[in-house]
Amino acid sequence: MAVVQRIVRALRRTQFGDPILRQVTKRLSQVEIQSDGFQKLIGRMRYTLENKEYGVGLAAPQVGKSLALILVGIKPTPSRPKHPTVNMVLINPEVIKTYGGKEPMWEGCLSFGGTKNFPYAQVPRYKKVRLRWQDENATSHERDFDGLLAHVLQHEVDHLNGVLFVDRVEDTKSYMTIAEYKKRYLR
Ligand SMILES: [Zn+2]
Repeated sequence: MAVVQRIVRALRRTQFGDPILRQVTKRLSQVEIQSDGFQKLIGRMRYTLENKEYGVGLAAPQVGKSLALILVGIKPTPSRPKHPTVNMVLINPEVIKTYGGKEPMWEGCLSFGGTKNFPYAQVPRYKKVRLRWQDENATSHERDFDGLLAHVLQHEVDHLNGVLFVDRVEDTKSYMTIAEYKKRYLR
């Protein structure tokens, strides 16, 4: 019997200017969620996200698929040493409730150039949001999120509606490269 070697490769990332990043993504049915092709896509997106040093989230349009699927992968780093490891798959996610006003948070996006250097800016985001979504088994969930997770989820859900972080920057003078941001704020 031949040994089948399964090689997972990282997906090619789409970049700012690609029209797919501006499309409203397609929602998935239970049958579609449970299909082999879709489960394989989740595996490849997980691999792609784990290989990006600054990536904390990845939406399907960022790898060329106009589908309502996002992955979140947060691990402790020198700038957030106490943050617990979070790995989530959210299908058909929707922000169904927000709490209070917005406050500026620093963010960038893997679809804006290389992984070593890209633009960073302050984006107003809600501190707490409630989401409804389905997981990779098509089980429905509803939960409140705050902190970094709430921030990341708002950015990723925007991707599913063709909205990019640059659309939400109000203080346009806050733009700087991630390298400059790290030099100034993460010492
Ligand atoms: Zn992004």
